[in-house]
Amino acid sequence: MNKMNNDEALVVFSGGQDSSTCLFWAKKKFSKVHALTFIYGQKHSLEVEMAGKLAEKAGVDFHLMDVSFIGQLGRNSLTDPSMAMDQEKPEDSCPNTFVPGRNLFFLSIAAVMAREHGINHIVTGVSQTDFSGYPDCRDAFIKSLNVTLNLAMDEQFVIHTPLMWIDKAQTWALADELGVLDIIRNETLTCYNGVPGDGCGHCPACRLRRAGLEKYLASRSEK
Ligand code: ZN
Repeated sequence: MNKMNNDEALVVFSGGQDSSTCLFWAKKKFSKVHALTFIYGQKHSLEVEMAGKLAEKAGVDFHLMDVSFIGQLGRNSLTDPSMAMDQEKPEDSCPNTFVPGRNLFFLSIAAVMAREHGINHIVTGVSQTDFSGYPDCRDAFIKSLNVTLNLAMDEQFVIHTPLMWIDKAQTWALADELGVLDIIRNETLTCYNGVPGDGCGHCPACRLRRAGLEKYLASRSEK
């Protein structure tokens, strides 16, 4: 068994607003940070490119892993160019931007990699607050998986979810507190249409991101 380094963390890092904020959060908490980015058949390769650049700027170790098979297992509009993306959450199901099993795969692979590097802290930017209907963003799932991973590998992993109980406006506030508001605003990609920074403005991810930013900036100027 590898000896665990208790001051190192591995961040599951997509290069979007949430995981980028988590990357800088982790940098404040841990002496060494690794970023793990997955290629899972995203339509926009720019996402991965921007993640690499931001990891370099943040001065963290960047790991890239190709898990494109997960996009082929279940149909979803993030990896299937022939599918139109749901603009709203359907009443009785997840939006078709849901990639089934994504966080289960990502966090399981992250844990194996963390173990390889002797790391027991894993950080993910999932949030239950601005809940878009993805079951694998919920706190109960993360806690359950944490137990499972520990049992699976006989380790003491700790999965950190700094954004679990905060909304998008508070996520912007956290970025500001960490001194990286402009970096997160300009150098991350959240947009489902692959437009960096403030994005296309009309996809569900852009609308959520912008509404949060406007709410935060308004509250800041009131102070
Ligand atoms: Zn967009």
